Amino acid sequence: MNEHDSERIGGLLEEGGYTSVDDPSEAEVVVLNTCAIRENADNKLYGSLGHLKPLKDRNPRMRIVVAGCLAQKDQGIIQQRAPWVDVVVGTHALPALLELVRAAERDGPQMDVREYTEVFPSALPARRGSKHHAWVSIAVGCDNRCTFCIVPLVRGPQLSRPIGDVLAEVQGLSRTGVVEVTLLGQNVNTYGRDLSVPGSPRRPLFADLLRAVNEVDGLRRIRFTSPHPHDFTPDVIEAMAESDKVCEHIHFPLQSGSDRVLRAMQRSYRSDRYLEWVRRIRAAIPGIAFSTDVIVGFPGETEEDFQGTLRVMAEARFDQAYTFQYSPRPGTKAAAFDEQIPKAAVQERFDRLVALQERISLERNEELVGTTVEVMVEGMGRKGGVQGRTRTNKLVHFDGEREPGAFADVRIQAAHPHHLDGAPVPAAVPA
Ligand code: SF4
Repeated sequence: MNEHDSERIGGLLEEGGYTSVDDPSEAEVVVLNTCAIRENADNKLYGSLGHLKPLKDRNPRMRIVVAGCLAQKDQGIIQQRAPWVDVVVGTHALPALLELVRAAERDGPQMDVREYTEVFPSALPARRGSKHHAWVSIAVGCDNRCTFCIVPLVRGPQLSRPIGDVLAEVQGLSRTGVVEVTLLGQNVNTYGRDLSVPGSPRRPLFADLLRAVNEVDGLRRIRFTSPHPHDFTPDVIEAMAESDKVCEHIHFPLQSGSDRVLRAMQRSYRSDRYLEWVRRIRAAIPGIAFSTDVIVGFPGETEEDFQGTLRVMAEARFDQAYTFQYSPRPGTKAAAFDEQIPKAAVQERFDRLVALQERISLERNEELVGTTVEVMVEGMGRKGGVQGRTRTNKLVHFDGEREPGAFADVRIQAAHPHHLDGAPVPAAVPA
């Protein structure tokens, strides 16, 4: 979501007549778009602001803007701690960015951290980082209250975007050559809960949206992130299975395999229900890849709870897992929980979890050796050649020269936990 917003910040500044520079010391406007989910986000922000201060002292035309989730959360504290910050713009106030920069030039420091989204950020101009892929926001905010998560505090309640607006954006993107979109929402399964359809008692559902986007000409791949296991519904599986452009990959956040910990996290599904969804999705969509998020060392997590997580991981056999060591986020409920787990114990569990997942990721990737997969090229590979992604979101390296956005059939020759090596299959010559 922050990448999506950064593209809007770039687009707004371009529309205001600014062009980008490589050297920050030459910039008239520097925007730090912050993310409060990351650990030590505030230390990183104030570290960056400290580096910018001497640049601003030498270049008094420079305006420094702090945007994003930390701006929304910390508000006036930012300009108290770093008085050389000209503008603080919260997550709901992005459309006012240019106005605020101009007001700061005229009248001094500005802050806008309004509480509600009035203009959906997707309606703003964008300076996109990729010609072939685009992030498309379908909803902002979240109505859940997971006790470890800062998102509801900084992004507010869920606000869905009308299907027509999403479709218009995707159609426009497709006309400019975008072949892959990622639909973004904190909880895509509750998309539409806050919308209505004129003349119909029915609310639009995420499955309706998937089917509608699948009809957009020119588009080849549709991804989405993230579904919430509690709100997952069978119609989404059906829509995924029926829509040929929807990729065979799902990010399905587990967070913990212990029901006791899930309860403390206020995640209202249980491990058996979670595994049941994994089985049903796999049965309906052969070859689908799963990725997940897991938090280790949540307050009160016992060795038995952790064993529950290992058990679910072993059973689900995720292709990839984003594993996190719990650390308290100020402002969240869990930050005030007793029984915070000592760092050494968290690290020890984390190491065991990563070792298990590395083994499973490698085994899952080994199953692809000898098969041919469709790869969409993303750019130069680290080892020379190019790299791209399969429909199942696996990273593939192969030799040759291809433009980003090109498609290639690649025969997989070797597997590693986090990527595959392959060779392009020559196109068949017509007889
Ligand atoms: S559903 Fe996701 S975004 Fe919403 S509170 Fe839970 S973790 Fe945060």
